[in-house]
Amino acid sequence: MAGRPCLIGIPYDASSSFLRGAAGAPPHVREALFSPARSLWTEDLRDLGAEGGLTDAGDLDLPPDGEARVAIESGIRAIVEEGDFPIAVGGDHSISYPVIRAVALAHGPLTILHVDAHPDLYDVFEGDRYSHACPFARVLEEGHARRLTQVGIRAGNQHQREQALRFGVEAIDMRAWELGVRPEIHGPLYISVDLDGLDPAFVPGVAHPEPGGLTVRDVLGMIQAAPVPIVGADVVELCPSRDPLGLTAVVAAKIVKELAGRMLG
Ligand code: MN
Ligand code: MN
Repeated sequence: MAGRPCLIGIPYDASSSFLRGAAGAPPHVREALFSPARSLWTEDLRDLGAEGGLTDAGDLDLPPDGEARVAIESGIRAIVEEGDFPIAVGGDHSISYPVIRAVALAHGPLTILHVDAHPDLYDVFEGDRYSHACPFARVLEEGHARRLTQVGIRAGNQHQREQALRFGVEAIDMRAWELGVRPEIHGPLYISVDLDGLDPAFVPGVAHPEPGGLTVRDVLGMIQAAPVPIVGADVVELCPSRDPLGLTAVVAAKIVKELAGRMLG
């Protein structure tokens, strides 16, 4: 049987550098996803609620420190070993490192599409090699990415630029995106969506809002045009305390839904 998309909540935010709260995101995304206000049909009319559609592994039970990485990796490994495709709902972006590690150890080095305002390539950030500012440096050092393409970048610095050059990262920053540059990628693909890659007009509920970003439609379009197989994904950095109307959670749920639909092939 073909792999199914599998939702898994990662309630962890101890590697956030500024504002905590992302650990509380998974129930908000689930509530928006399964709300009677919307259906589980994707835009291309796949019913995620049908047999063989989206499954849900619940939330991981995690310690509030770096020990959580081991538990995250083994929680994802359990899904991958079933032949399914995890969609990890964070949590801060540090969770992408153990998630990608588990997926890549099963599928081999991945092509990674990374949507974010920030490159997240710091070697060390504020003394922490596993900060949410560092996950892609760890992923690249360990050889889990065949290729890393970043989209939406608009808040970097010289150190992260040097890291991108060192690792051969392909960055489509917002200025290039505006000029029409689009990713050309081939699977097996992993998609990591930091919600702050979108413009805060659409997703105010993030810890590091950065104006001048992608639209919801830009991100959905990339997902819908992505090559299959998509073997794993994450949607991270929703900060519920900054999301009083719950609209950022609705955007996160919409992204999860289209990711799951695309995983069905
Ligand atoms: Mn970010
Ligand atoms: Mn990030």
